[in-house]
Amino acid sequence: QDKRESLFALSQWAGKYFKDQLWNSDTGKAIGLAYFKERGYREDIIKKFDLGYSPDQWTAMTDTAIKEGFNSEYLKEIGLSIERDDKSFYDRFRARVIFPIHNLTGRIIGFGGRTLKTEKSVPKYVNSPESEIYHKSDVLYGLNFAKKPILDNDSCYLVEGYADVISMHQAGVENVVSSSGTSLTTGQIKLISRYTKNIVILYDGDAAGIKASLRGTDMLLEEGLNVKVLLFPDGNDPDSYVQKYGSDAFKNYIAEHQEDFVFYKTNILLKDAKNDPIKRAEVIREVVQSIALIPDEIKVSVYIRQCSGLLDIEERVLLSELNKIRIGKS
Ligand code: ATP
Ligand code: MN
Ligand code: MN
Ligand code: MN
Repeated sequence: QDKRESLFALSQWAGKYFKDQLWNSDTGKAIGLAYFKERGYREDIIKKFDLGYSPDQWTAMTDTAIKEGFNSEYLKEIGLSIERDDKSFYDRFRARVIFPIHNLTGRIIGFGGRTLKTEKSVPKYVNSPESEIYHKSDVLYGLNFAKKPILDNDSCYLVEGYADVISMHQAGVENVVSSSGTSLTTGQIKLISRYTKNIVILYDGDAAGIKASLRGTDMLLEEGLNVKVLLFPDGNDPDSYVQKYGSDAFKNYIAEHQEDFVFYKTNILLKDAKNDPIKRAEVIREVVQSIALIPDEIKVSVYIRQCSGLLDIEERVLLSELNKIRIGKS
């Protein structure tokens, strides 16, 4: 446990280091802070999320940490420093704006760093690796800030990226978390369901977002959550939509375009299948498979009835498929 505490302390220190770079160093202010302001972030929001900046140098952070007495093994273990073949260390985060990742109690456990360059050869985001204090599958970005708003609203928005969480907070929508680019895990879903059963997925309006919106979502149904989905137009994500159209337009958009997940999935699959009978049969099976996961019998009946309309197929066909799936499972 001593070691865990040391890793927490080191993360906390690094968070302060990046923050100090952002607010107090010449390049941090000129490049990092300017970048966040360019994105439309207010100072209070930049502070609330502990945003930071890592200088464009190979060993600036590592050197400072060692000088302040931190252990290089621990720096390596939480991934802030990377070891070279000759056993020297360099900084993982260089010339990036920094998004610290907090645990439920608000302690920093990892970092995401976004490049300021536009070259395609540079990965847009670099993230801390798994460590003893950062288990990615059990962490949702922003949950430390969103806990109470989720309880108050009895609903949770799920977005793809760090920037989406931050922009929504700034727009006054605080019941929002992100799985940070990975597909949802059961651990993350159980975490949300401690606070609410109502979840709204706000994925990017690009091909990757549509794909992601269908992936991992069956687990949500299985957990008995009520799932709605919403995509943004013209390749936007929540962040870009807020910045382009403003908070009020954003809130209106999300209020008006939420769609029940089962119907959303049905419609998307149907669009792909067009009038091909084999494909339509596949769609019907897939939709019933999703419905079969829902633990609440009354909801199951309602979905069967409504999907029979959408799929243009008799209810008894869906019911018999449902029974087949259930017998197969028991
Ligand atoms: P921005 O608005 O800053 O361009 P974004 O959050 O919209 O970023 P997306 O491309 O939509 O970025 O990706 C969503 C999330 O996926 C990111 O916030 C990040 O957590 C993760 N991600 C994106 N690109 C990478 C990458 N190259 N490596 C690791 N994670 C990534
Ligand atoms: Mn995207
Ligand atoms: Mn995005
Ligand atoms: Mn974005």
